[in-house]
Amino acid sequence: MYIILLGAPGAGKGTQAARVVQELKLVHIASGDLFRQALEQGTELAVQARSYMEKGMLLPDEITIRMVLERISAPDCRSGVVFDGFPRNLAQAEALDKALTEQGKALDKVVYIKVSEKELLRRLSGRWICRQCQAPYHSVNSPPRVWGKCDRCGGDLYQRPDDTVETVKKRLGVYFTETAPLIDYYTRAGKLLEIDGEGSVDEVGRRMLKSLRRELVRQGER
Ligand code: AMP
Repeated sequence: MYIILLGAPGAGKGTQAARVVQELKLVHIASGDLFRQALEQGTELAVQARSYMEKGMLLPDEITIRMVLERISAPDCRSGVVFDGFPRNLAQAEALDKALTEQGKALDKVVYIKVSEKELLRRLSGRWICRQCQAPYHSVNSPPRVWGKCDRCGGDLYQRPDDTVETVKKRLGVYFTETAPLIDYYTRAGKLLEIDGEGSVDEVGRRMLKSLRRELVRQGER
């Protein structure tokens, strides 16, 4: 099963991906996490990735597509994947379609998590992430039990350097020009499932899993 979580930065893709992965026994692939891992490990990719990420810009498609396609060819991805943050433009969407078709596979559903711009800005400015397991927190909405420490693994929490107001605005701009057209692309392909992404993490999670399960059953009956 191949599912994409589509939405602006701050829509809750990472948070909700963790639920979908657990419920449907899939592998979570977040392109942003793959790039951040490269930064931590100081790989060759890190040098290029850093300058783009600091500016809130997308990395070149060639690099991104190669990295994600390599990741999905690993044995643990055989039973299926939840993509988060990929694809982020038309070229990446087409490359993913092509790669899946070549393997006799196809996307099952694209869940579009819709959140207003005002709410996105509010969420991103209070976001804290675990350095170790990437679990997301929010200083107001979902604070950790012990300030600065991850509830799940005890790792240190940090604010992403690209979550500053200026970079957030830039990232949202990139989303609206480059990524938002994918809503149309996947609607035309009959794959889009729109979910209201406002409300508590639990509310959105329940709403999403309910619709997703219903859609997958309906699709299976066709
Ligand atoms: P994210 O964690 O998804 O918000 O991604 C953080 C940053 O990583 C983005 O602002 C981009 O610089 C880079 N990035 C992540 N995913 C992609 C992608 N699919 N295409 C290009 N750049 C990406």
